[in-house]
Amino acid sequence: MEHHEVTLRDCLCKRSVRVGAFQRYQEVVHAGGAQIFVVFDGDEHLGLVSDREAALFPNRIFADLVTRRPPTPLHEGDAIMHALDRLESEEREFLQLVDTNGDFIGVVSRFSIIATLIEHERLLRSRLEDLLSEYRDELDHHRIAASVFEATSEGIMVTDAEQRIVMVNRAFRETTGWGEDEVIGETPRLLHSGRQDEDFYAAMWQSLKQTGAWEGEIWNRRKNGEVYPEFLHINAIRDDEGEIRHYAGVFSDATRIREMRERLRHLAYHDALTDLPNRKLFFDRLEHAIAQARRHEKGIGLFFIDLDGFKEINDTLGHLVGDRLLQAVAETLVDSVRETDTVARLSGDEFTVFAAIDDGEGGLVAVAEKLVAALNRHFRVDERRLFVSASLGISRYPEDGEDAQSLLMAADNAMYKAKGDGKGCYRFYSATSHGQFMQRVRMTGELRQTLEQREIQVVWQPQVDLASGRIVGAEALARWTGADGRNVPPDTFIPLAERSGLIRELGCQVLERASREIAQVFAEFPLLTERFRFAVNVSPAQISTRTRSNASSGESVDAILEVFRTMGLAARQAEIELTESAFADRSDIETALGRIGAAGIHIAIDDFGTGCSNLATIKQLPITKLKIDRSLVTDAVNDRADREIATAVVGMGRGLNLEVLAEGVEDHEQAELLRRLGCDTAQGYLFSRPLPLPDFREYVRENLRQTAN
Ligand code: C2E
Ligand code: CA
Ligand code: CA
Repeated sequence: MEHHEVTLRDCLCKRSVRVGAFQRYQEVVHAGGAQIFVVFDGDEHLGLVSDREAALFPNRIFADLVTRRPPTPLHEGDAIMHALDRLESEEREFLQLVDTNGDFIGVVSRFSIIATLIEHERLLRSRLEDLLSEYRDELDHHRIAASVFEATSEGIMVTDAEQRIVMVNRAFRETTGWGEDEVIGETPRLLHSGRQDEDFYAAMWQSLKQTGAWEGEIWNRRKNGEVYPEFLHINAIRDDEGEIRHYAGVFSDATRIREMRERLRHLAYHDALTDLPNRKLFFDRLEHAIAQARRHEKGIGLFFIDLDGFKEINDTLGHLVGDRLLQAVAETLVDSVRETDTVARLSGDEFTVFAAIDDGEGGLVAVAEKLVAALNRHFRVDERRLFVSASLGISRYPEDGEDAQSLLMAADNAMYKAKGDGKGCYRFYSATSHGQFMQRVRMTGELRQTLEQREIQVVWQPQVDLASGRIVGAEALARWTGADGRNVPPDTFIPLAERSGLIRELGCQVLERASREIAQVFAEFPLLTERFRFAVNVSPAQISTRTRSNASSGESVDAILEVFRTMGLAARQAEIELTESAFADRSDIETALGRIGAAGIHIAIDDFGTGCSNLATIKQLPITKLKIDRSLVTDAVNDRADREIATAVVGMGRGLNLEVLAEGVEDHEQAELLRRLGCDTAQGYLFSRPLPLPDFREYVRENLRQTAN
């Protein structure tokens, strides 16, 4: 018989066994020992390797084989040879050996051809030595693998090809609650929760057979009956011939991951602060409600709620207080509506509620009144009593919109109307205001784009000394060419910028551009510099301490000074104009004005005479100029009573030691009258319309020439 090369793998995987008696074999098996028994020469036993790292070598395979295969009687002498020959030809894996009495001797595998070398005992011995040392190395590997197998936090279960469990690790035992001896020999059915149907398992086995792997999430049952989710990965393990020998399943208990995922899913649809549905869920639900209403020919009422003055609370008391207040408001809203109504938080201090209309408009009014009453009150937040009110806009399906988006816009639009009508009230949507609203939305977008491209322009309107006609200053006025190429008047886009928060950026760009242009004028006309001042209009929102982005008013004033510095301008050459109405609530801008005045920048009150300024206020602020509003100037000539007012206003300005300028002077009669009343300077179409820079330079040149002496 020829020498077969026997590899260690053969030796390990397809063991040859020899024991003196079955008894001994069984002992080993039961002790959980792994066995590498090498065959034998009569009674002399050449090598025996046995190890306690049993788990690596599923004993059960042995045991099964031992019991499954009928004993093959062998006879002494050529018995072994004979058996091995048969093995070769029959391609059997294992064969029991029994002695002539039919007693079990051992098992040989078809690869334990070592046995055939009996004649060459010496060779066999040395070969065995090699094998054994290799085996020990391998065994070390296995020992490491075994401890990793045991220690890993993922559950591992190995089955044989018939899906009988042959090995499990500690994580398996801990997760499932089953002990090793309870599951070995069982099938994974033991773990089935009943949550997946037969089709599921059929598909899983199909995939395993075809691709050799399956991966997915599966619900299993612990020993105590509890059902839990696990991520399971199964691999088919094939032998050298490609036959599936084992299946190894690795799984992790997904309970916590699932909990986290559910939490994340919840967060994706809910607002973290109030736990109310967020914009996304709100839209989902509203769309669903609309679909249902359409089917049943019912109506829906949508309420858009915006808190009044929330920004101020947030800005003055801090975000923490603001957040608590929003939570309290959310609770109040939920308490004020029926359980079937949806309350959502869209953003900031904007909430929505929608409800099926059961009893017509009257029902909506009742809900609106209830909501307004519930919100217009003091809220207790951290020992503080905070007063809030809310403005409410209402839209109806199907009258005001047929889809969620248009209904929301309609309600938002109505809410704006409520704000405009004095806040703390509710308004129904009406179609005309919707048109204006859409126009505003479109224009805001265009303005934003213009600012991004830094395309806001300025024009200059000269201010002259009434006595001499000499130019003493100029006011920079913003100009915006809209997308359609037409000029949008500042009276339209300035309020738009104020409402959309773009005013700060707009103000910065106007200031920069005006400074750059006027610096050029100064460079060209050095004579101007003595008395000349350039004026820029400033909106209160730009310097208000209530605007969140102006955390410190110092910042915005410093920014202004920085612009002047870069352009080589002195603070005293500059003037800012604030409308009289900006002083109505002076606490808002007082600090900023103090700093601006202290920096040497002049401050003018614009449109003076239109509001009701508090004189005491003006006295305390670093104001240097009054600009008499155009309406007063126009009327002063025609109407006696108006002339008295103009007289009083000019007199008051002079009394306070302020410079007084008349705005909107269009003819000589007005100019003459105002000069007599005591105005020092004036501005208006009589002298010049606002001019773009080249024309303005031309004007300055001409004016300086004419008034040279
Ligand atoms: P304002 O500050 O009172 O500016 C004077 C306005 O009256 C200008 O209108 C000017 O063109 C116009 N005007 C000047 N002289 C006469 C006249 O003799 N007759 C008549 N009928 N009108 C005259 P404009 O440029 O349309 O500006 C309107 C308002 O827009 C300004 O009123 C100001 O409040 C605001 N504004 C303009 N530019 C800016 C800016 O850069 N920032 C801010 N915050 N507001 C600006
Ligand atoms: Ca002005
Ligand atoms: Ca004015």
